Amino acid sequence: MKIVIIGAGLAGLACAQALKQNGHTPTLFDKGRGLGGRMSTRRAQLSSGTVTFDHGAPFIAAQDAGFNAELERWREEGLVAPWPMEYGKAWVGTPTMNAPITHLAKDHDIRLSSHVMGLLRDGTRWLVLLNDGSLHGPYDAAIIAVPAEQAAAFLGMHDLVMASHTVAARSKPRWTAMIAYADKMPISQDVICDCEPVAFAARNSAKPGRSDREAWVVHANPEWSMTHLESEPEPVANALREWLGQQAGDAALPDCIHLTAHRWRYALPQHSRLGALWNAGLRLGACGDWLLGPTVEDAWLSGRQLAQKIGT
Ligand SMILES: Cc1cc2nc3c(=O)[nH]c(=O)nc-3n(C[C@H](O)[C@H](O)[C@H](O)COP(=O)(O)OP(=O)(O)OC[C@H]3O[C@@H](n4cnc5c(N)ncnc54)[C@H](O)[C@@H]3O)c2cc1C
Repeated sequence: MKIVIIGAGLAGLACAQALKQNGHTPTLFDKGRGLGGRMSTRRAQLSSGTVTFDHGAPFIAAQDAGFNAELERWREEGLVAPWPMEYGKAWVGTPTMNAPITHLAKDHDIRLSSHVMGLLRDGTRWLVLLNDGSLHGPYDAAIIAVPAEQAAAFLGMHDLVMASHTVAARSKPRWTAMIAYADKMPISQDVICDCEPVAFAARNSAKPGRSDREAWVVHANPEWSMTHLESEPEPVANALREWLGQQAGDAALPDCIHLTAHRWRYALPQHSRLGALWNAGLRLGACGDWLLGPTVEDAWLSGRQLAQKIGT
């Protein structure tokens, strides 16, 4: 089948990879200018060079045997490396978090900067409508691989039962600050967890394969992020930078040379254990972390499970 996939995050790409192995021809549309979805990497150009921030998922953890095997394959290709943390075994993309996504994308027809506005029926097939008014297709099957809130509109047009599952999967938001310093921050640890109002902060520059320029990514917890959801990025970035400064105690702080914040409206979905959705009559499917849990591993598993449901 010619299959259109809306969303080229890890779920969409893992599904595309398995579909291709099963003899199908996937085409992916993603509204982003770059690849990664919620595993994205942000680059900032400073006078002293480029600095990168993993401003989406800061690390990957794995329990499933199949996903562990995939991580081992990615490690052999130099796409991920173990990242020793005192909180347990973790992996990161190398040299940036989106490295596995960029690698998977090489095998597929991916249309970036392509914001899908509608999924239309053309007899028994599917057409995709972009925000520039262009129509693409027809395709034999369609897959929605975007966060639950964004999937609701596509699914609701064609299958109300599928759409109803998105309601239970509402996501929690997350404000993320990206901060670079002229010198090393006087903080001994590279990771700080669950320290009000921050869920997770990491010295990005300490991850394997990064530049040695001092860079931190600070993720506010869901409660604080919700309270400040409609704030401007600047005060949010300043508040999170101030929090990081406090972690250095009384020590003198180096100059801050870069400061931005990103609002993830749909960062971490509520749990659902459906795996993936497939309506064989319509040939309409959905995958994504929201169908399993709030992690990179769940996104990958959901994509693979959908491909398995579709079969050959
Ligand atoms: C701040 C943050 C911290 C996180 N921390 C962790 C962590 O520590 N560990 C962990 O395992 N996971 C973490 N996660 C979750 C992890 O990033 C996600 O579970 C995973 O990346 C989801 O992949 P996905 O493919 O399901 O969705 P996404 O990565 O969101 O991919 C969906 C894609 O669809 C595209 N899209 C959306 N709407 C449209 C449209 N209308 N038209 C075209 N394209 C569209 C988007 O551009 C995006 O690329 C974190 C996420 C965030 C945001």
